[in-house]
Amino acid sequence: MKEKKMTKHIAILPGDGIGPEIVAQAVRILDKLKADGLDIDYQYAPLGGAAYEEYHHPYPPYTQEICQQADAILLGAVGGPQYDTLERSLRPERGLLAIRKDLNLFGNLRPAILYPELANASTLKPEVVSGLDILIVRELTGDVYFGEPRGIHTLANGEREGINTMRYKESEIRRIGKIAFEAAQKRNKKLCSVDKANVLETTELWREIMTDMNKDYPDVSLTHMYVDNAAMQLVKAPKQFDVIVTGNIFGDILSDQASMLSGSIGMLPSASLNESGKGLYEPSHGSAPDIAGKDLANPLATILSLAMLLRYSFNNEPAAQRIEQAVGQVLAQGLRTQDIYEVGCQKVSCSQMGDAVLIAL
Ligand code: NAD
Repeated sequence: MKEKKMTKHIAILPGDGIGPEIVAQAVRILDKLKADGLDIDYQYAPLGGAAYEEYHHPYPPYTQEICQQADAILLGAVGGPQYDTLERSLRPERGLLAIRKDLNLFGNLRPAILYPELANASTLKPEVVSGLDILIVRELTGDVYFGEPRGIHTLANGEREGINTMRYKESEIRRIGKIAFEAAQKRNKKLCSVDKANVLETTELWREIMTDMNKDYPDVSLTHMYVDNAAMQLVKAPKQFDVIVTGNIFGDILSDQASMLSGSIGMLPSASLNESGKGLYEPSHGSAPDIAGKDLANPLATILSLAMLLRYSFNNEPAAQRIEQAVGQVLAQGLRTQDIYEVGCQKVSCSQMGDAVLIAL
């Protein structure tokens, strides 16, 4: 019997600030892949400030329906100073929190990649970071950020006390473990689980479960590292890592630390996945209102987010690699947007960078 072709649907959310400019460049790449036979379609919807303007809500039902029905979502960025005085529930960032919650996006994937051509952009020595390619898998919906009880209360003696609770259920650890092991299988098959098992029982359980899960992924080499050592190793010898998996609070800190190894925020994509592999893909940076509308933004983080979308939600490794290689090629040609510019290179605009990636593709 002939296999039925299934068209994949992408929701495109340009958002605010530089969002529409950078997403437009990614959509040009998508159109090219479509013309070359990729079976996808896409639909636009507003999120954040743009959605507030149109629907008086940062994540309106119209956008919610399109996102719920899509197989994957590509987002630019949300936010801007003009929305900072709105009532909290209407602010653009609430739209982002709402979509993450609505789609149960518990697994955050943040690569830290440093193309050899950009080694000088890092504050670390080029030989320590050149060619860096690590992936941090962070649990996003549990841990001390969400654990109950929490709050600030007053003790009998009148002194105030703040409480947060670190907790993880076995099922929560297993589902993020699955994402991490599978990501490691798609890469160099090395997974480092970061915890503080010597002090915290929550992460003692984390370590036990990761070790147990390794039996189902025998091709992946699993190691464990305490978070304080991981923080040191990330700046001392970051290239020792392939995939790192960790809980919400450790991941929050380590992923920001790792992103700075690469020097430019305009280069870093990210993904947030749910249990069925549906994901929200977006650059790690914000809406950069200071350069919005000027055709100056670096679109590469968004284009690389599209590559992640194809890899993790559509399981299309060849298409993902095709995009990543095209990005590598334009950097090798010496083309740079202003944020990654250095003397001797050719400064290009956001749309010119899009042109170049399209040609390289
Ligand atoms: P930002 O990441 O938007 O900008 C920080 C600096 O990096 C700015 O100088 C900006 O010009 C530059 N920059 C960012 N992306 C760039 C790119 N692609 N190319 C070139 N330069 C780039 O962070 P911010 O200034 O703290 O926040 C601005 C707005 O973005 C705020 O409203 C904030 O709430 C929002 N924000 C949104 C997200 C998101 O949508 N996921 C994330 C962070 C911040």
